[in-house]
Parts: sequence; C-alpha cells; structure tokens
Amino acid sequence: MNDTILSESVSKFNTHIARICDLNHSAALLEWDQETYMPSGAAASRASQISTLRQMSHELLTSDTTASLVEKLESDGLKPGSIEADHVLIVRKDFERATKIPGNLVAQLAETAALSRGAWMKARTQNEFELFAPHLEKIIDLCRQKAEALTYKTEIYDPLLDEFEPGTSTAKVRLIFEELREKLVPIVQQIATEPAPEDDFLHTFFPRDAQWKFGLDVAKDFGYDMNTGRQDYSAHPFSTTFSISDVRITTRIDEHFFNPGFFGTLHESGHGMYEQGVSHELERTLLADGTSLGMHESQSRMWENLIGRSREFWSHYYPRAQAAFPGALSGVSEQDFYRAVNKVAPSLIRVEADELTYNLHIMVRFELEIELLEDRIKVAELPSAWNDRMESYLGVRPKSDSDGVLQDIHWSLGAFGYFPTYALGNLISSQLYDQVSVAIPDLPDQIAEGSFSELLAWLRKHIHVFGRRKSAAQILRETTNSELSIESWIHYIEKKYETLYGH
Ligand code: ZN
Repeated sequence: MNDTILSESVSKFNTHIARICDLNHSAALLEWDQETYMPSGAAASRASQISTLRQMSHELLTSDTTASLVEKLESDGLKPGSIEADHVLIVRKDFERATKIPGNLVAQLAETAALSRGAWMKARTQNEFELFAPHLEKIIDLCRQKAEALTYKTEIYDPLLDEFEPGTSTAKVRLIFEELREKLVPIVQQIATEPAPEDDFLHTFFPRDAQWKFGLDVAKDFGYDMNTGRQDYSAHPFSTTFSISDVRITTRIDEHFFNPGFFGTLHESGHGMYEQGVSHELERTLLADGTSLGMHESQSRMWENLIGRSREFWSHYYPRAQAAFPGALSGVSEQDFYRAVNKVAPSLIRVEADELTYNLHIMVRFELEIELLEDRIKVAELPSAWNDRMESYLGVRPKSDSDGVLQDIHWSLGAFGYFPTYALGNLISSQLYDQVSVAIPDLPDQIAEGSFSELLAWLRKHIHVFGRRKSAAQILRETTNSELSIESWIHYIEKKYETLYGH
C-alpha cells in the first residue's frame, strides 16, 4: 500500500487513541486529587465527574471509529514488531474487552466505586463494617455482571483477574499459591521458634518531616525523577500516571513506626520508576503503561525488599538514618537495625507485613474474593470469615474490623482480581533479580555504595521501556529463560532468613 496513505491512516488512528488517553489521564488526575487534597464534602460531585470522563473514554474506545481504524490498519500490513503494529494489537485487545462491557455498567461501576470509597473510609475510621456493607454488596453484584459480560469458560474470577494480570488464570494462580503455601508455612513456623529480633526502637518517635525527607532522598537516589514526579500524602499509598512525564507517588507516615512511611515510599518509587521508564515514543498510546500488575509489583517489591531490606543497602544508609533520627536510633547498632526491619512476625495489616507472611495475607483475600463472587459467603458473614481465615493462616485474629476486613481500599474500588498480583510480583521480582545479579556481578558492592544507576538501566532496558509491547510472560522468558515459578523466591528467603535467624 502507498506509504502516504498508510501514514495518514496511522496518524488518524494515533489522534483518535490519544484522545482516549487524555480522557483516562484526566480521570486519573481527578482520582489522585480525590485521594490527596479534595475536601470530603466533594465526594458526590467528584464521583459524577470521574464517571463522565470514564464513560466518554469507554464510548470512544468502543466506537465504530475505533473498529474501522483498527480494521483498516490490520489489513494494511503494518510492519510486524513496529510500534504501530504493537499498538494496533493492544487496541484490538482493549477494544474487544471493552465492547463486551455495556457503557451503563462502566458508569455504574465508576460511580458506585467513588461513593463506596467514601463509605469505606468512614467505616474504617469508625470501625463500623455495616457502613460499608451495602456498598460492597453493590460492588460485588456489579463485578459479577462484569465477569458475565466478559464471559469465561471455567471460573467467574478468570475475566476479572485477566484485567490485572493478562495471560494467567485462576487455576494457575491457585496452583502457584498452593505450592507457595506448602514451602512457606514451615519456614515461617521454623522462624517462630527462634528468638525474635528486638524492634521496639522502630516504634519510638520518628518525626514526620524527617521521615518524609529521608524516604524521598532514597527514592531520588534510586532514580525516581522529581522533574517528572512528585510525592504527596494519602490514606492509602499509591502511584499514578498522567503522562510519561508526570508520574506521581503518595505515602503515609506514622510518627510512631518507621516502616510504613519509609518502605512505602521505596515501594511506590519502584512503581513510579517503571512508568517513568516507558519509552517516550509511546506517549499518548495505550502501550504506555505497565504490562501487568504482577510485573509492576515486581518492580516495587524489588526496590522495597530485595534492595531496601538488604544488608548492603543498610551498610550505606544506616549512618544517614541515624543522623536523620538521632532520638530513636542513636544507641542502635546497624546489625540490630537490619534484623529489626527484617523481623518476621504474623501480623494483622497487609501493608505492614514482613516479606514472608505478606503472601499469606494475599491468599486470604484471593480465597475470600472468589467465595464472595461465587456467592459461597455473604457480605454479612465476611468479617467473621476474614477473622477465621487470618487465624488459620497467620495465627492472629483481628480485634476490630478496621484492622481486619476494612483495612484495604481495593474492594471499595471494585478491584476484584487485583490482590493476587501482589504475591505474583514477589515471585517475579526475585526471578528478575537473579538475572540482574548475573548481568551486574558487583551489584551488591554498588548497592553498598548507594549506587543504583546500573540496576535501573538494566530494568529500563529489559522491562520499563517496552510498556505493554511485551507481555509479562514474554519479559520473563526473554530475561530469565523461564516461566513464573516459586523456586527463585523460596531460595532467596531461605538464604536470607537462614543468615538472619540461623545459629
Ligand atoms: Zn505496589
């Protein structure tokens, strides 16, 4: 076909998709504001605004214009593997998925989620599950409708999971989790028989401003770019993207516990760096995003845990931590601090859980989500089901729903199918890190010098730059020559915790 005509078709297609991206990013900006600065009284009007933008974006994506532009380029023979060809493939995929969901269901989900989020916050603050329960019932009903509209072969959870982790299945995740649980529980039990590290000093006083500065300084050292990013406070930390040149993170700080603010900042900076690393050629295309949430989480977990909880990291940063928090840390040795930030103890709150027991928190949610969707448990039974499951998996029972079933924002947003990606991210992070360690043999020395540029460059080159052009499975195959598996992560924790807790 004539190159001029082809480039005209590409240009029309790009302009059309760019408008969809602009609407999505504008909605994301309103959502970011909702979580950070918006007065609580604005919840209802904000819900309508977000719903309008999301609906407009959905209408554009599912329009006849998209269909005809995609069909034209599919038949025009774009060069396979080119950005244009990859873009058409992804738009086709998103189009297929989106056309299955009726526009009014999308609008209902967005509006219900925005209202539900407010109810969840109130319920959590007041420890009253009943305030959230009717919203959750509505959310579950809408998620079921969504799954039915998307259609599935075996499990209702499959199409919901696919939104966040394309290419996997409920059965596969269940199998991975079973293997993981089998290996993990004995390790956690073994650790429980060892004397626990002293960590009282982590719960003394860490002034807010000093925490903010220390955490953000480390994120900047990692390579989180403040020219194209910023950090703000929110109740539930997250990262969000309005363009490749505007990738924001949030954090929350507890002045009486060092871990949430600091490790939360490292975590979100890992997400942020992924998005900042997407090739600028992909700006205003549907390729400019992380390829899956599991891959996204592999990045945040790598910076938070594999780097931020490593001995090398603290050999460099501990003197700085002591200078930043003299009141809390002046009499604490580096070794004691390192052991304390790696303490393993079953606890109630997922985001504060240690590296090991974290995955058990995810399994509780994964199972309950499926049972709720399949109507095997009712919303009214959820708090006690949650508490029972926590007791059986982690040996701890929440005293309040705020520390139990109400702790996470995800269900209020309608994000059923999201939680498993956290645990998958842990597994992927370790598989990738093994490979980086081969590519950069002196990586531990570099970390001990506070130097992360080679590591970030490797992640950029093999993962970030592609956005959605490569699937998570493809990236794993190409970088590690293997599929998703538990071995690498199990090996990592066995080695690390043997040294930490061994004799
Ligand atoms: Zn994350």
